[in-house]
Amino acid sequence: MLSLAEAQAAILSRIQPGDRMETVSLAAANGRFVAAPLRATVDNPAFDNSAMDGYTMAHADFATHGFKLPVAGESSCGSRPQTLVPGTAMRIFTGAPLPAGADTVVMQEDVERLGDSALFPAETPRGNQVRRRGEDFRAGDTLYSVGQQLLAYDLALLAAAGVAAVPVFRRPRALVVATGDELVAPGQSLQPGQIYESNRLATLLQLEALGVEVVDGGTVRDDPAQLRAFLRQSADYDFIITSGGASVGDHDLVKQVFAEIGEVSFWKARIKPGKPVAFGRIGARTHFFALPGNPVSSLVTFKLFVEPALFAWHHGVQPWLELPATATNSFRRNPGRMEFLRARAVSANGVLQVECLKGQGSHMLGPLRHTNGFIRVSEDSSGFAVGDTVQVVLL
Ligand code: AMP
Ligand code: MG
Repeated sequence: MLSLAEAQAAILSRIQPGDRMETVSLAAANGRFVAAPLRATVDNPAFDNSAMDGYTMAHADFATHGFKLPVAGESSCGSRPQTLVPGTAMRIFTGAPLPAGADTVVMQEDVERLGDSALFPAETPRGNQVRRRGEDFRAGDTLYSVGQQLLAYDLALLAAAGVAAVPVFRRPRALVVATGDELVAPGQSLQPGQIYESNRLATLLQLEALGVEVVDGGTVRDDPAQLRAFLRQSADYDFIITSGGASVGDHDLVKQVFAEIGEVSFWKARIKPGKPVAFGRIGARTHFFALPGNPVSSLVTFKLFVEPALFAWHHGVQPWLELPATATNSFRRNPGRMEFLRARAVSANGVLQVECLKGQGSHMLGPLRHTNGFIRVSEDSSGFAVGDTVQVVLL
């Protein structure tokens, strides 16, 4: 059985990355991945300007005229840069261009108005409260490289850089399907022995957040003919993601059908939850993941396997935020598999503390409402005690 790292490496080595690009407007680029380097079209700031509402002057005038200068003129936002009358100060507002000849700003709270003149603090340094042209970035600077995902902060930066449209990879298409004779959609009434289906929606939403064009394949019964019919549509998809039926039971048919029509890379990984998880390829285009049916296993294996695969498909690398934290409760177990425990991390007096939530069974969804991370327990560990340092993967 492969370790987590081996299974992830097997996936990454078998990804056929996307190669078609398209250009989309900034407003349509949220969650998409950069397909060619993005450069700034302007300097930012575009011109020297004031960081404060106040007054601007040439610092050298303090030496010759003292710290009391007559006030002449005004520079406001959107006005054309003007020229400072030598020996005077000019009224200026936040973001307004510095007039030619000025190099210093004093915020108005520090200024005493004396009729037509103003008195400035003697300790004002040259360049005070000035935002310099290009101090943030310069026209031509590369702001993003291939494989970076664009989210709201990035789109703000690109807008400021004058970028109106971005080359991104075309969205991969993914088919998502839940398998199981017991599954019923929420809203319907449950017959004895049935349960509500909960994996598909989370998978679809997580895929959409990763820029994927999703197709909801609904629920398929534990019937090889139905499954086969489903998987035969694979040529239309870059990814097929199933939930359930990946284990060893008589009704676990997913792996059997995948093995018939595709090439299975691995069937199990040394992780908990999520041991019965499969990855493979069908034809030149399709990557498939058979995720376990247990709801928590489904979420964990998405994070561990599907997410890095999608970043790799987009020529990127999955961000992975893992930090040491102090355990506030203890946890005992038998070593052997890498384990991911649903956890709640909080910052207490600047120290990251983490609680291993009660109810770690992979069928137990209740703790999800408090979960903001996973404690990652390494294969050889037999658990941790209160106060021990553990590794937390933050979500
Ligand atoms: P399986 O992987 O099909 O053996 O399913 C393992 C467990 O997860 C069983 O208890 C199933 O009833 C449950 N399960 C499977 N698929 C889903 C699903 N889509 N939503 C909720 N529970 C599921
Ligand atoms: Mg099943």
